[in-house]
Amino acid sequence: MSFAGETKKELCKSILRLDKCCKFAVLYGILLFGNKFSVNEIKIVTEKDFIKETVYSLFKELFDIEPKIRGKQRHDNQITYTISVTEKEDIMKIENKYGFPGGASSIGINFMLLQNECCHKAFLKGAFITGGSVTNPEKRYHLEFATPHYYLFNDMKVFLMEKDIPVKNVIRKGHYIIYFKESESIEDMLTLMDATSSLFKMMDIKIVKDIRNHTNRITNCETANITKTVNASAKHVEAIEKIIDAYGSLAHLDDDIRQVAEKRLENPESTLNELGDMFTPPMSKSAINHRLKKILLIAEEL
Ligand SMILES: [Zn+2]
Repeated sequence: MSFAGETKKELCKSILRLDKCCKFAVLYGILLFGNKFSVNEIKIVTEKDFIKETVYSLFKELFDIEPKIRGKQRHDNQITYTISVTEKEDIMKIENKYGFPGGASSIGINFMLLQNECCHKAFLKGAFITGGSVTNPEKRYHLEFATPHYYLFNDMKVFLMEKDIPVKNVIRKGHYIIYFKESESIEDMLTLMDATSSLFKMMDIKIVKDIRNHTNRITNCETANITKTVNASAKHVEAIEKIIDAYGSLAHLDDDIRQVAEKRLENPESTLNELGDMFTPPMSKSAINHRLKKILLIAEEL
């Protein structure tokens, strides 16, 4: 199952333990972000059987309503469930609890229903179950809520901003999207919704990703240094061999320069620091560098 699916499954499971006030808040979030929430029809469409069961049991427990459930098999054998409430009497019960906005265009959050602090988390759980999605953090960091309703979008922004989570928004294909791109904000959202398993999974993935990036950076840096050392060393060796070809040996060079030349010839893969350490007393990197430059100059003049 996708990371989003697992998160939603975790949320659905956590709902069973909630107080009644919070269960009402969950269903409110589910309905607002569901497919239809009006005086004529209430409808939620989902491919997840656990969402279907959760919605059904909330209607049953809170309102003693048995919604209709239709399952439709798609080409890929996946079943799409439509859960709907169409009886006037049933819709009235829901209206009495939540109230209905003027029309579909003005669907928004009735904050009077979310006065208990405990219900805020619950409302978010519900909103995420029908309106939310989260990308597998292995790929990238992205969590969003989507709705075609402008007022709901604005109210949701206010609701989230009051939780001190910086929100971003965009309009995509007629839907208003509230989204989060920073891993910290997504972790905050998962924490707010009490999606602890998903939160820990995301944190684990993040740690592995950070280590991998760090290792890549170090490896790239080491590779660059090795290439530099090898290129420089090849030049030195070439110069030293040119001097030997011209004079038959290195014997005519000053002692300090000759010793460095001999060490370089014997250790073409060593860094300047490593060459310096081969002397007693050890020589500094800059002293080695200075002498190798002299060798390059001598060879150039030949
Ligand atoms: Zn509550």
